[in-house]
Formats: sequence, C-alpha cells, structure tokens
Amino acid sequence: MHPPEIVLATGNPGKRAEFESLLGGLQLRLRNLDPSVPECEEPFGTFVENALAKARHASRHAAAPALADDSGLCVRALDGAPGVRSARYAAADAQPTLARAEQDARNNELLLQRLQGAGDRRAHFVCVLVALRHADDPEPLVAHGWLHGTVAAQPAGEGGFGYDPLFVLPQQGLTLAQIEPEQKNRISHRARAAGQMAQLLQAFWGIAPTAQHQSI
Ligand code: IMP
Repeated sequence: MHPPEIVLATGNPGKRAEFESLLGGLQLRLRNLDPSVPECEEPFGTFVENALAKARHASRHAAAPALADDSGLCVRALDGAPGVRSARYAAADAQPTLARAEQDARNNELLLQRLQGAGDRRAHFVCVLVALRHADDPEPLVAHGWLHGTVAAQPAGEGGFGYDPLFVLPQQGLTLAQIEPEQKNRISHRARAAGQMAQLLQAFWGIAPTAQHQSI
C-alpha cells in the first residue's frame, strides 16, 4: 500500500525541504500544491486562523489532505506585534512587493525603532501547523511550537532570514543568524511544531512511523 499523501500548502521550496526532514520519521508523502492554485488570503488576526485558512484552501484545491503553517515573531512590549503581520511589518499592503531581503531589512529596522527605550525585550517565534483530512474536516489537527528569546539592540550575523539577526538565544548569547542552520533547525518553533504534529498524525490519523523511527 502507498503511504498516505499530504499536500503542503506552501510554494516555498525551503520550507518543503524543512518539513520533509522534520516529518521524515513518518510513512507519508508530502506533495506540492499545484503552482496554478491561486494564493490563499491570510486576513485573520491569529496564526491558527490563517494556518487553518491555508490548509482548507489547499485541501479544497487539491482534493486531498493538506498541511499548512503560519509563523511569526511576537514581542511582549509591543503587545505581540509584529505577530501575524511579521512578513510585511514595515510595508503597507498596497506597496509593490519588495525583494525578500529588502523587506526583512525594513522589518528589522522598524522593530528596533519601535523598541527604542524599551526595558523588556523578550520575544518569541511561534509556528502553528494545521492538518486537514479534507476541506470540510470538522477536526483539524493543530500543533504549536515556540522559541523564546530577546530582541538585540542591533542586528548580528549573516545566516538565516527574517528576524534572525535580531533574535538572541538567551543561553547562547548569539542571534539565530549567528548559529549553524542545523542547530537552528533542531530548536526552531517550526521543528517543535512539527514534532508535535508528527505525534498527532500518528495518534489521530494512524500514520505509522518509518522502521527507523519506531519511537517517534
Ligand atoms: P511565514 O509563516 O512564512 O509567512 O512567515 C512569516 C514571517 O515571520 C516571515 O516572513 C519572517 O518575517 C518571520 N519568521 C517566521 N519564522 C522565522 C524564523 O525562523 N526566523 C526569522 N523570521 C521568521
């Protein structure tokens, strides 16, 4: 019998590779959503609603089970901002799309500006994953992962993307952009959410672990 197929509601090849590796302990196949499928709106104020909307959209278009993620940075002193607006924090929605690196640099600049003089610089990344068996599935599987840290006074490091150069890991005293990608992938909010989702997929959808991962 073929392993069950799940459509990944992201066109981002980096994310696909990451999820393939993170869910590699399960007997399932991740399939890409057809690139001709229109982008899903993400109009909601919470990560879980946006992830659910993306999973439903993908599942409906692919007529198959789907897995979607939504993630971002939440800063305590800013009441959780940039939050669901993390990707476009510094850009008005009407602005023409900027290159990713330029967008990231502007977002980081704005974050530092908003935190000027703030005593509390605690922040966390969050990732929410939602899996649906079909578009009208009344029982979505929902997994959360968090990574806690603080916002640096200035960017440091060349690696990663997004807010990585500003996000300091308290135990290491380094930003996410200063550590090895493999290290980040072990501790990240995405890795933690994927670990939780792997357990939910086994428990509720009966997806078996691969022979090498019987103890997942
Ligand atoms: P999305 O879930 O891919 O839409 O990510 C939303 C935004 O959150 C990204 O564009 C980044 O700005 C930010 N973000 C999410 N995960 C990370 C991370 O691991 N490092 C840095 N920024 C992140």
